[in-house]
Amino acid sequence: MPNYQEILEQAAQRVQPLLRQGKVANYIPALAEQPLEQFSVSLHTVDGETFSAGDTEARFTIQSVSKVMTLTLALQRYGDELWSRVGKEPSGTAFNSLTQLEFENGIPRNPFINAGAIVTCDALYSRLSAPIHTMLESYRAMSGNDKLCINKIVAQSEYDHRYRNAAMAYLMKSFGNFNNEVEDVLWSYFNFCAIEMNTTELAKSFSYLSSQGYCNLSKQRILTKKQTKQMNSLLFTSGLYDAAGDFGYRVGMPGKSGVGGAIIAIVPNRFTISVWSPGLDKVGNSLAGIAALEYLSNELGTAIF
Ligand code: GLU
Repeated sequence: MPNYQEILEQAAQRVQPLLRQGKVANYIPALAEQPLEQFSVSLHTVDGETFSAGDTEARFTIQSVSKVMTLTLALQRYGDELWSRVGKEPSGTAFNSLTQLEFENGIPRNPFINAGAIVTCDALYSRLSAPIHTMLESYRAMSGNDKLCINKIVAQSEYDHRYRNAAMAYLMKSFGNFNNEVEDVLWSYFNFCAIEMNTTELAKSFSYLSSQGYCNLSKQRILTKKQTKQMNSLLFTSGLYDAAGDFGYRVGMPGKSGVGGAIIAIVPNRFTISVWSPGLDKVGNSLAGIAALEYLSNELGTAIF
């Protein structure tokens, strides 16, 4: 077995010079205030071992990584029926782009851009009486930390600056692809984005994606094997905003990033890796996070190809 601990520590060392080069997300004040020079990485194996290096105690909001769990909970309830409301194609546009919606009848390209995640939230909202509670309890069971919380300051700040996301939701409603009150669904969506974790909890939460859909921590089947394969395929083509191609080329694993600086990456049947560093590159992905994953992919031979 590779010396995971040593390799993660090397990755944390190597990215140090990059930490100053990114820019923190500044579309809401609560994120803009984060100190730039932080980095953490964790790896959770399918056998249940966890290794971490860097600022491992640091907590951050998972932001768009939450879109993966939103899709997971929606697929549990709808199966393939969900795909009538959201597509499976890469968008090639920014995470918060509105333009394609207008030309494609209010059907977002995929569930990992904002419009797609918001419509998936709308679907979930229709089937859950307390969506925020259900989401938080799911993460608590799967991360092994029953005290996980939502950062209410971040959630409120997102809601107070919701104009663009609200515009997407109303546009989808105008096309008949939205069933609940826009403001209620957005409140759930922002709360999902504002769930706070460290990288260890993040790697554990998404370990079902490397274990063929089964979560060893909660002892629950989360997705079928087939759905897990489909999820990982979609993550590969669309998980990194409009830089999915570059990420695939450099890292070679399915992944999902968020503007808080977190990224998860999946190596089927081996492990889930999470990285976090708040400095972002031009498209909104963690600069040091991607560099660390590229290093790990080479050192651990984790590219799936
Ligand atoms: N809460 C963010 C938003 O909807 C998530 C964006 C992201 O991480 O891509 O604007």
